[in-house]
Amino acid sequence: MATMQDCLFCRLVAGQIPSERVYETEAVLAFRDIHPQAPAHVLVIPKQHLDGFASLDERTAELPGQMALVVNEVARRLAFFDSGYRVVCNQGVDGGQTVGHLHWHVLGGRALHWPPG
Ligand code: AMP
Ligand code: ZN
Repeated sequence: MATMQDCLFCRLVAGQIPSERVYETEAVLAFRDIHPQAPAHVLVIPKQHLDGFASLDERTAELPGQMALVVNEVARRLAFFDSGYRVVCNQGVDGGQTVGHLHWHVLGGRALHWPPG
């Protein structure tokens, strides 16, 4: 399991690498994706390290609810709450996960295609 020192998003939470923060709570941080795939593309992450969606368990079961509230607050603040948005979590190799710290993509600001590739 990654630690604060070698996890990109843990370092971002700690302010050791820059990010454009959109909103945060005590447990959750939302910041702009560095390679946006839509006019608005935000990543929502727990401040505590979890490897990914598959790491959620009984001890961390409250986190997805807290992350969901942050997703909706981001959608309101970036003004796509009413027009619609997509929440995506890539898990593991076949899911296309490239950063080993749980994150949800929040995409908005244009009509999104379905199904995803
Ligand atoms: P995934 O492929 O689902 O693991 O998503 C990882 C996301 O993290 C990608 O969309 C990257 O563009 C994004 N990303 C990587 N490094 C940074 C960074 N330093 N700041 C913001 N977003 C990043
Ligand atoms: Zn981490």
